[in-house]
Amino acid sequence: MLFENLNVIEPILKALQTEGYTTPTPIQAQAIPIVLQGRDLLGCAQTGTGKTAAFAIPILQQLKDEAGPKQGPRRIKCLILTPTRELAIQIGESFTAYGRNLNLKHTVVFGGVSQHAQVNAIKSGIDILIATPGRLLDLMGQGIISLKHIQIFVLDEADRMLDMGFIHDVKRVILQLPMKRQSLFFSATMPPDVAKLADTILTKPAKVEVTPVSSTADTIQQALYYVDKNDKKKLLIHLLDDKAIQSALVFARTKHGADKVVKDLVKAGVKAEAIHGNKSQNARQRALSNFKSGEIRVLVATDIAARGIDIDELSHVINYELPNIPETYVHRIGRTGRAGASGIAFSFCDAEEKAYLKDIHKLIGKQIPAVSDHPYPLGLSVAEPAQAQQALREQKNNGFNRRNGSGGSGNSRPFNRNNNRRPKPQAQ
Ligand code: AMP
Repeated sequence: MLFENLNVIEPILKALQTEGYTTPTPIQAQAIPIVLQGRDLLGCAQTGTGKTAAFAIPILQQLKDEAGPKQGPRRIKCLILTPTRELAIQIGESFTAYGRNLNLKHTVVFGGVSQHAQVNAIKSGIDILIATPGRLLDLMGQGIISLKHIQIFVLDEADRMLDMGFIHDVKRVILQLPMKRQSLFFSATMPPDVAKLADTILTKPAKVEVTPVSSTADTIQQALYYVDKNDKKKLLIHLLDDKAIQSALVFARTKHGADKVVKDLVKAGVKAEAIHGNKSQNARQRALSNFKSGEIRVLVATDIAARGIDIDELSHVINYELPNIPETYVHRIGRTGRAGASGIAFSFCDAEEKAYLKDIHKLIGKQIPAVSDHPYPLGLSVAEPAQAQQALREQKNNGFNRRNGSGGSGNSRPFNRNNNRRPKPQAQ
């Protein structure tokens, strides 16, 4: 399946190519044709499935002829309501990326910052508005935004919206929308209150559901390092001393964090480059081809930047920071061990990240074996509950890690590609 098969128009296809997307994700394959038909959609999908492009691509395609000299001044024809500032910014970036060859304008509004620049952008004329509920209502109240001309409405992450207590705000926004419109509703989960809200918004929707990834391939060997935040840098450099790590994709949570890791590695004599949204397309491509050719050994990436890239023969994935969305862990480590090949994934976990780790363990249905014997163990800081301190004392006495019920290897580099200690990959 290709985007061409979904009748996506040339300028968008080109933009997708630039992004490095080759095949549509399942939610995209299902949702794009429905949205292009003008139907309402109820999408059960979460972040990480490609759902933003699933609505952004057909919206851009539907609105492409609606802006131009003959159409008069620009009016807001599409509203995307999303719960958080981060999501709003991400969606805005997606519209920029996929719509780069079209004559459509969009802007993002969210609270917590001055409204000045946002108001200017709206006044200069936009076709698509991405907003969080509070700031949207505020600007509507001031008469700066009108929803009279909305043709397409998207409610993103509806379950999170309700969780965050935005139900009344959402209802107030909906009341201002024209009755005749196309509505798209996305939620990761569909509890009764969310389904009820969907009922009030949608008319005869087509339903699309994608099951989130939850299992990790048996061919990927996973190991966990409890480590203080401040020691992560040293631990990474220590691990990279092992020449068996031919290539490592290191994940950082933020662009700034990724740059910092690269700086530290380069200082330590490790050839590394970063790839993230602040880098130009050329810089990203260059870093990627340097990595693929073996010119650099380490590529440090953010999740957003890494999603579009495909690297064969990647020996190691290192989670320098754990992701806050557990499915992202599965996606990240799935970058190694492709097509049945073996792969190794190391994850660093500091005191603050233990909650993320708990979610990951719940999702993958097993505990990642922890390496207890490494030079930078997580300190017995105040953050450690008494129980954990006791467990650590026991570990030290017994010489292996009991916390996760796994025998420690007694080696801070438990498995490299050349040793025999790794279990044989199991048949799928
Ligand atoms: P989302 O679920 O919308 O947050 O998307 C998750 C990530 O997947 C984003 O970083 C997108 O850039 C990326 N992505 C979306 N669609 C595709 C695709 N068809 N191929 C490769 N990457 C994609």
